[in-house]
This record gives sequence, structure tokens and C-alpha cells, in this order.
Amino acid sequence: MKSIRSKLKLNNKQKTLMAQHAGYSRWCYNWGLSLWNQAYKDGYKPNARKLREVFTNHTKPLHPWMKDLSSRVYQYAFINLGEAFKRFFQGIAAHPRFKKKSKSDSFTIDNCGKPIELNGWNHKLPFIGWVKTYEPIEATTKKITISRQAGSWYLSCSYEFTPTPTPKTTDVVGVDLGIKTLATLSDGKVVTSVKSYHKFEAKLSRLQYLNRNKNIGSANWRAAQLKIASLHLRVANIRKDALHKLTTYLAKNHGTIVIEDLNVSGMLANHKLAKSIADQGFYEFRRQLEYKTHWYGSELVVVDRFFPSSKTCSRCGHVQDMPLNVRTYDCPNCEISIDRDLNASINLRKRVRNSEVSSECKTHSRDAVGLTVDACG
Ligand SMILES: [Zn+2]
Repeated sequence: MKSIRSKLKLNNKQKTLMAQHAGYSRWCYNWGLSLWNQAYKDGYKPNARKLREVFTNHTKPLHPWMKDLSSRVYQYAFINLGEAFKRFFQGIAAHPRFKKKSKSDSFTIDNCGKPIELNGWNHKLPFIGWVKTYEPIEATTKKITISRQAGSWYLSCSYEFTPTPTPKTTDVVGVDLGIKTLATLSDGKVVTSVKSYHKFEAKLSRLQYLNRNKNIGSANWRAAQLKIASLHLRVANIRKDALHKLTTYLAKNHGTIVIEDLNVSGMLANHKLAKSIADQGFYEFRRQLEYKTHWYGSELVVVDRFFPSSKTCSRCGHVQDMPLNVRTYDCPNCEISIDRDLNASINLRKRVRNSEVSSECKTHSRDAVGLTVDACG
């Protein structure tokens, strides 16, 4: 069993709905606890099931607002109360205490026995409806707990984790992350950068320019800053989305993915390149590939950053200098003329083909951090 916890992206209406359910859960828990205490004093032996029966038949009908909320919530509130008492009787926890508002706001729901599928960014929760998470998640679970922390809502659940390998159309693929394009694959596929991103970027610099003379801290300035911040977020999301699509495609359809371990800090010293590299999110790319290859049963190979993938001819092995502005590799030796990035990606793919003897070098993505094919000889 594994568990996940992910921050929810909610609109105001949904936030209210979450708060109402958390309030419902707290109300039932506290009601149950007070009745339990009273019954105990009166010499009865209360339990969660009996309390729930009293609640369903006598108390719930008196509170019409409860009809608008999921009935699963109170079921779990009583289950939780029963478990809290169980721990108390076993001597491993203190006597259950009343829940305070906004201190422990949470509730649990399920799908009446049917599994709940979480897949990607959008999730249909029973009763609650569609919600978004900030990161894609994949899980099949029986119940979900939603809780509030520092003003934000989180979804958590546990699930049985079984990696699901997908059929692979390509054995080995080399991927060159580019400046002009997002990525070039050794089979010739080119993934272009997201265009809308540049549109927003232009808007962003315009806003920053317009904001230059405003008094810092003034209402006007603050309004503009807010606009700038939300545009930044939008640009970041577009980029994230493009990267997720690319890494999912790679991990699902390719047996082994070969990428270069980029010396990002060294490259960031070159200012023209710096922005572009930061934009494309190389670190994020690698991080995503590491966990997605694990999900889909593929392998990630990270090639030593000193391997001259751009400078080497992918056909004959000739090595020559390749300044960044030269977009085509023209080999004086075998006379091939090939796109710079495609040449590099083919070289990356060949790194694995050439070193197939050292199959132990092709490690699973989980262990691939820091691994270089060179290091294994
Ligand atoms: Zn050549």
C-alpha cells in the first residue's frame, strides 16, 4: 500500500463545499462523543454502530441542512469516533476529545464500495464532483480524506501500487532537449515549444514595462503586481503541461529513454542560453521521467554530460566544433547534412545500442539518478 497527498486547486464554491463537509463531519463526531460520554455516565455501553443508528433515525431528520451534504461523511465520522475509543481502550491513545473548528477540518468520503479512480489532474469525486490537483496523480482507492491545512485543501488516500507497464512501440529512443524546440527524438519526431507561452511572455514584459513608474506599494502598483503574478503562474502552468505531455508520451511508448545529463549550472553562465534553459525546465523533465518510467515499465538512461552528443557525427563518428548558432551538422568526412538536434538525439540513442554488453548500466529509473553510461564503461 502506498499513500498520496496532493494539494487541491479549488474555486470558491468548492472551498465552501469542502468547509461544509468538514463542518458536518466535526458536528457528527462531537455529537457522537457527547452522547457517548452521557450514555457511559448513565451506565450504558455505547458503540459507534448504535450511535449511528440513533443519529440516522432521530437526529438527522431534525437538521435539514444535512440533506444537502454527502451522507458518507457522517458514516466515517462515527467510524473514526469508534476507532478513537478503541485506541483509548487499548491504552494507546488518550480519551477522544471534541474537535475544534479550523483546527482539524477534515472529512472522509467513499463511493459506496465502488473504487474511486484518480488519474491525471482532474478527478471526479463522489458527491463533490470534479476537482483539480496541482500534480497528476494515479491511484485506485476506496476512500478519500480531504483536509485543510494553512488555508489550503488537500486530498489524501492510500492505494495498492502496481506499476502498469504499457506496450512499447520503440525499443530505444534518444531525446535531445533543445533551445529552438522543446525536444527532438532520435526517430525524427520533433516536439515544438508551446506557442501560447510566447504570447503570454510578451504580455508579461509589457505589464512589467507599464508598471515601471508606479509608486511601489500604491494601490495601482499592487493591482499590477497581482496581474503580473497571475500571468507568471499561467506561463509556468503552460510549461508544466507541455512537459507532462512529453514525458508521459516518452515513458509510455519507449522501452529505454536516453537523455543527456545537462550541466545546467555551467550553461546558465551563458546568459542568452540561461533563459531558454530555465524556460524548458530540464530538471523538471528529468524528475518527471524518473517516476513515469517507473509507472509505465520503461527505463531511463542518463548519459554523461561530457559526451559530445552535438559535436559527434551520428553516422561516422567524426568530431567537430559546433557553435550554438550552427543549426545543421555538416560532416566533412561522410558528407551527411543533418539537423543539429536530431544528430544529437541519434548519438544519445547509440550510447545505449553501443553499450548493450553493459546491460547492468541500463538501470531502472529509480536508481538512475547520477548514473552515467560512461561510468560503467
Ligand atoms: Zn560523418
